[in-house]
Amino acid sequence: MGLEIDKYQDYKEKLLFGRYINNDSIVKLNMKYDFLVIGHSSNNLPIYSIKMGFGPIKILLWSQMHGNESTSTKALFDCLSFLNNYQKNIFSSVTLMLIPILNPDGALKYTRENINNIDLNRDALSLSQIESSILRNHYNQFKPDFCFNLHDQRSIYSVKNNKPSILSFLSPSANFEKSETKSRKESMKIIAFVKGKMSSIIPDNISRYNDDYNQNCVGDTFQSLKTPTILFESGHIGQDYNREKTREYMCYSLIYSINSIAFNDFVKIDYKDYYLIPENSTFFCDIFLKNVKTFSDKNQTIDICIMFKEVLDINKKEIRFEPYIDKHGHFSNMSGHLNVDFNQIKDCFDMSNNFIIDNLMDIINKLRIIQ
Ligand SMILES: [Zn+2]
Repeated sequence: MGLEIDKYQDYKEKLLFGRYINNDSIVKLNMKYDFLVIGHSSNNLPIYSIKMGFGPIKILLWSQMHGNESTSTKALFDCLSFLNNYQKNIFSSVTLMLIPILNPDGALKYTRENINNIDLNRDALSLSQIESSILRNHYNQFKPDFCFNLHDQRSIYSVKNNKPSILSFLSPSANFEKSETKSRKESMKIIAFVKGKMSSIIPDNISRYNDDYNQNCVGDTFQSLKTPTILFESGHIGQDYNREKTREYMCYSLIYSINSIAFNDFVKIDYKDYYLIPENSTFFCDIFLKNVKTFSDKNQTIDICIMFKEVLDINKKEIRFEPYIDKHGHFSNMSGHLNVDFNQIKDCFDMSNNFIIDNLMDIINKLRIIQ
């Protein structure tokens, strides 16, 4: 195993934890890195950047353009900490420009959109929001050779129908034809390189994101401007709702990506290997219940898919996960991050009862204690 794995607990950025990461969380790291204010959000919060290195290859990385997608931000700081502590020489090959939280208003409110309810990743063409213009101006000035666009994906994503997708990647399309342009192929090679490195750690939990072209998405726009761009998505596994395990895997992926660029390792990869990575499917839910008896049909049982709504508890400054029934019926392909069989439960449930989720959760919690 490499240093990045052996030493993870030593270099992990421990000041950052959990899902609720905003400007207040990251400014504590100002003592380690020089934060530069590159502009202000729609609600006048500072947008920070960090520049590391002096190498000729320039990489622009941004995270939390969706305010509630914080896992990759934690991973980004872990990655920076690793490079700074164990691989300082890389900074003579690459210059990194990081924007850890592009959407600080959304991060504070824990929303995907910015304060004006605009999804910044659908604003690349119109640049109607100040955050979008700041990213675009930064891109124009820095003239990156590569772009990393960091996100979180929902817990519904799976690899085929039985493994959760912990990480997914995309080489965004540069046009409607999804042509294999030079920059797109370079992104594909880097992703295939990372997938190869990660295969010894999580061989079955990596997928690739849908590549339909959307010129309103930032990655598609930068790819069409001929800058190889990669979308990184932090996914979900098991009961790790703080996504600390995913954070670790995402950190390794970032380290491998940057290394593959710095040392030109990705060029030897066949870009077609990218297509061997399975496409994302949506066969997962947070809790999957099997064999639930209902009043409406006493002859057969049903399956229930429960999802968690993420709610910001502003006093505790943490995220609460509120269960709700996403769908019920018969789903032979579905799995849950928690699977519970109600076979032994004699109770019959009334699916029209507003309090059914509370009843179900009581039983699930009791069964979990017994297990
Ligand atoms: Zn996102």
